[in-house]
Amino acid sequence: MEILKASYLLTPEEILQGVDLAIDGGRIVEIGPNLQERYPKATLHHYPGRAILPGFCNPHLHLEFSANRATLSYGDFIVWLESVIRHRERLIPRCDEACLEWAIEEILSSGTTTIGAISSYGGDLEAAVRSGLNVAYFSEIIGSNPGAADILYSDFLHRYYRAKKYEGERFRACVAIHSPYAVHYVLAKKALELARKEETLVSLHFMESRAEREWLDSDSGDFRQFFEKFLNQRKAANRPLEFLQLFHDLQTLVVHSVWANDAELDLIAQEGHAIVHCPRSNRLLGNGVLDLDRLKARAIPYSIATDGLSSNYSLNMYDELRAALFLHPDYPALSFAKELLVQATTWAKRLGFASGTLEAGNFADLQIVQIPEDLEVVEELYLHLILHTHKPEVVYLQGVRHGK
Ligand SMILES: [Zn+2]
Repeated sequence: MEILKASYLLTPEEILQGVDLAIDGGRIVEIGPNLQERYPKATLHHYPGRAILPGFCNPHLHLEFSANRATLSYGDFIVWLESVIRHRERLIPRCDEACLEWAIEEILSSGTTTIGAISSYGGDLEAAVRSGLNVAYFSEIIGSNPGAADILYSDFLHRYYRAKKYEGERFRACVAIHSPYAVHYVLAKKALELARKEETLVSLHFMESRAEREWLDSDSGDFRQFFEKFLNQRKAANRPLEFLQLFHDLQTLVVHSVWANDAELDLIAQEGHAIVHCPRSNRLLGNGVLDLDRLKARAIPYSIATDGLSSNYSLNMYDELRAALFLHPDYPALSFAKELLVQATTWAKRLGFASGTLEAGNFADLQIVQIPEDLEVVEELYLHLILHTHKPEVVYLQGVRHGK
């Protein structure tokens, strides 16, 4: 058994002082004062001037694209998408084992212990399993051509069942439907039947860009030329609300939703789905800023994610939280910082893992973070952690210590 002693414990909803954390067998055993007296044989780790908080959950990223730095074009969604199509055959193989391991180390060393990994090819599966992180592994289906539906579906099934072999307390095989513009209705329906039967979590990119809005509403806008050029397609594969109805009764992470309309948000709320907000990716691809007021008005749960390195420059959740803080200047800094940090940790549970809060029985997935020396007002800790932390000093992954 080990006892961790720090100046503050963030549960994360509450900030506790004078309280220790006992871990054993990879799990949190107890939280309370003077645990050394109760467990005199335990090894003590003392972290003065530090806070212990749960590891982050980054619910949406694409490990496969981790080789990208400046290959893909940013600034405009369609220009970006065309660059993805142009370069992906080269980019994906460039993310070999070493690249995947580097990405996972970046994720872990910046305090993230739970991820939602979208995989279109399956080449990142073993690296994801080996990472030891809690992984919701979303095998993704994509394809709007009904002629290729059978081949695409059997490839998807193969990848899904390959992932399912690894299922356990730290790994869940899940289903991702790429988006309403890129997945044929029949294909989405089949994949979602599987998700229903297997009771998996589902992920969907939805209403990321103005182009998607215009194309799905009226077969117009910037996507019109794109679909004609690449797929010889003049009509959108789906209408958005009808497509969203396919996700009835499925626990779904709806990613982006920047351009979702009221009826779609009403349906998302009614179905109990949650929204994943990727502020830096949205900014870099010219997609605007998600209006959180419209989510809050409907009590739609949301949290922050980095998306992949295909549309971002780091997989560090502290970077993303800082960006979120500054991209939503109308929310009071102190309470919004707390809201962001609480969601960024507790979402591990939404992804299906016993992690993300400091409570007995959960996995000991923790981060030890330095507190700015002259912190005067304890309640400001959430904000200062977001402002001043680049990476935690130490990360515990299932009780195993990484870092100094
Ligand atoms: Zn994505």
